[in-house]
Amino acid sequence: MAAETLARAGVGVVLFERMPRLARKLLLAGRGGLNLTHSEPIENFISRYRGAAPHLRAAIEAFPPADLRAWCEALGQETFVGTSGRVFPRAMKTSPLLRAWMQRLAALGVEVRLGHRWTGWNAKNQLVFEASAGEITIDAACAVLALGGASWPRLGSDASWVAPFEGAGIEVAPLAPSNCGVRVQWSEIFRTRFAGAPLKRIALAIGDESARGEAMITAEGIEGGAVYALTPLIRNAIATNGRAGLAIDLRPDASESDLVARLARPRGKQSLATYLRKALHLDAPALGLLQEAAHKAATPLAAMPADAVARLIKSVPVEVTGLMPIERAISTAGGVSFDAIDETYMLRARPGTFVAGEMLDWEAPTGGYLLQASFATGRAAANGALSYLARRSQI
Ligand SMILES: Cc1cc2nc3c(=O)[nH]c(=O)nc-3n(C[C@H](O)[C@H](O)[C@H](O)COP(=O)(O)OP(=O)(O)OC[C@H]3O[C@@H](n4cnc5c(N)ncnc54)[C@H](O)[C@@H]3O)c2cc1C
Repeated sequence: MAAETLARAGVGVVLFERMPRLARKLLLAGRGGLNLTHSEPIENFISRYRGAAPHLRAAIEAFPPADLRAWCEALGQETFVGTSGRVFPRAMKTSPLLRAWMQRLAALGVEVRLGHRWTGWNAKNQLVFEASAGEITIDAACAVLALGGASWPRLGSDASWVAPFEGAGIEVAPLAPSNCGVRVQWSEIFRTRFAGAPLKRIALAIGDESARGEAMITAEGIEGGAVYALTPLIRNAIATNGRAGLAIDLRPDASESDLVARLARPRGKQSLATYLRKALHLDAPALGLLQEAAHKAATPLAAMPADAVARLIKSVPVEVTGLMPIERAISTAGGVSFDAIDETYMLRARPGTFVAGEMLDWEAPTGGYLLQASFATGRAAANGALSYLARRSQI
């Protein structure tokens, strides 16, 4: 996005990529449906970036979701708003968009050099790259670095930029997994029966924040949208207490008193499990989760009074012992501190070098917020670079 913005302004651009192909992560993101952005009101949208929202506001307001959709459509990829408000290209996958985009960049004169890994700056302030032919140095009038976070490193973004940044005295907040699964020590019986099973239409809570959605039970814990939305809080709780207490509401649409009333009705010859399944529409994984919690509390579900069962359905306690590794996380928290850049995304310690995308210190839930901020900061950094070049040409 930075290359496109600079090339459109008539600047000669060379795009370096360490992998043999461009945009591997963007291609992977499209595998489950490329969620480009979200259609919610802009204030709600910006609030998703939590503490980083004030830093990202200007870039997102300058290139908001509507502009990202228009950009995508101008590349021949019609977009649509899904039921959850998320925006996707009609084709769902990345490849047609990427193909059209690469053709546009070529038409704008952008030169692409693949297999070039940026390794830092040399004493002459030049950019140093490692390529198959050996080391090369580039004396650029300015540079935009958009080197990604640390998740899925085999796709290219391996955070190897952190060492040269820190070596140059640039503050980088420690990288950590975001939008990732969490570890739970399930009993052997629960794990064997339910690993891979979905928990549908649940709400997950930590402290007084909750997220509705779906989750998936895994052999090592749980993952899925509802979990990802709470990653920052889960991470903080683990850092403080070594663990995080989650509560799963298996019936977020019913109140506890409603559940008590339904549980008080005569069950006839039905077992409690059958009754819960039929009357409260709890499926096997939800029932399994209740049994697991009852087992941990050493009180069989069948021996619990109706109000205790209702309370448990509304708030199944799950102890999280850790986050899954960053290698499989959807995104990365931490990165280049906003204090290390000015409002044009230029590194204070390196005038003429700009940074954009996930390598900056922000995180957001899934829902299109990651790509929107990556694209918007790419634009903002390129506009910063254009102002810098204009200033330099006047000197
Ligand atoms: C499975 C998965 C699904 C996702 N789905 C979505 C989604 O639907 N919606 C959404 O909003 N977000 C999604 N994301 C997140 C989104 O893909 C990223 O936030 C986004 O790609 C970040 O863009 P970026 O340009 O900052 O970094 P990247 O896309 O990681 O690009 C950085 C590029 O820099 C290259 N590079 C890194 N280091 C060097 C170096 N030293 N020298 C040269 N080149 C280097 C890398 O090879 C890479 O090509 C998903 C992520 C994953 C893993």
